[in-house]
Amino acid sequence: MIAFRGVRKSFGSHEVLTGLDLEVGAGEKVSIIGPSGSGKTTILRLLMTLEQPDAGRIEVDGETLWDAGGFDTGRMKLVRRRIGMVFQHFNLFPHMTVLRNVTEAPVHVLGQGREEADAHARELLGMVGLEQHVDKKPGQLSGGQQQRVAIARALAMRPRVMLFDEVTSALDPELVGEVLGVIRELAHSQSMTMLLVTHEMRFAEDISDRVLMFDSGAVVEAGPPSVIFHEPREERTKRFLSAVL
Ligand code: ATP
Repeated sequence: MIAFRGVRKSFGSHEVLTGLDLEVGAGEKVSIIGPSGSGKTTILRLLMTLEQPDAGRIEVDGETLWDAGGFDTGRMKLVRRRIGMVFQHFNLFPHMTVLRNVTEAPVHVLGQGREEADAHARELLGMVGLEQHVDKKPGQLSGGQQQRVAIARALAMRPRVMLFDEVTSALDPELVGEVLGVIRELAHSQSMTMLLVTHEMRFAEDISDRVLMFDSGAVVEAGPPSVIFHEPREERTKRFLSAVL
């Protein structure tokens, strides 16, 4: 459902993606691991149309999202509605209540009625364990709670694909588990496609159908978690895992 074909991306003279080939099937849960600064976040940002590639092609549902002619504007709009992204920093609206943070896009982007949006938001906030906090402002919540609001907010758009970009990196260690627990539950219970950049190796092993080891702008090795974490073939993967595990 998602394909990167020979995608290149540079920032100035630094080539961050050196011809990325990657396919993710519908419903697949794929984790991207690898060293800091290797270009993992850039992959998600390109798919979300927050950055433009320099060359190659990105496809969604077999249709071109980006090629040398630029973004297809119709598909770009669809992608922004159908793909949810959760960032390292929660990016909540600080002046709005938790409930309003979750209903904002469904009401203003999808044109949902307030009652329908509220009911769905309460259901999602219940699912992430925040039903008692719907009327609070983000600043009154812990980092882990704020990140759970951000997950509910992304889910409120009923996305077919969810992107998670190092969503626990900014959290105090004792708050990491509650956020990973929510994502784990989603991964095991929902048919949506999930693409995650993570430094949490046990979590990646538990929830992924496939893991990509990424370094210096390209996929070094890809396979099921049982292979990548326990019998990696590539020296680079072995070195990375022995440093982080
Ligand atoms: P990390 O795990 O540290 O987040 P990453 O693998 O996700 O790293 P990216 O965030 O994709 O890596 O960044 C890859 C490289 O591109 C880094 O050197 C980063 O500084 C650079 N980079 C990313 N975005 C921009 C930008 N908008 N402008 C300039 N340089 C950028």
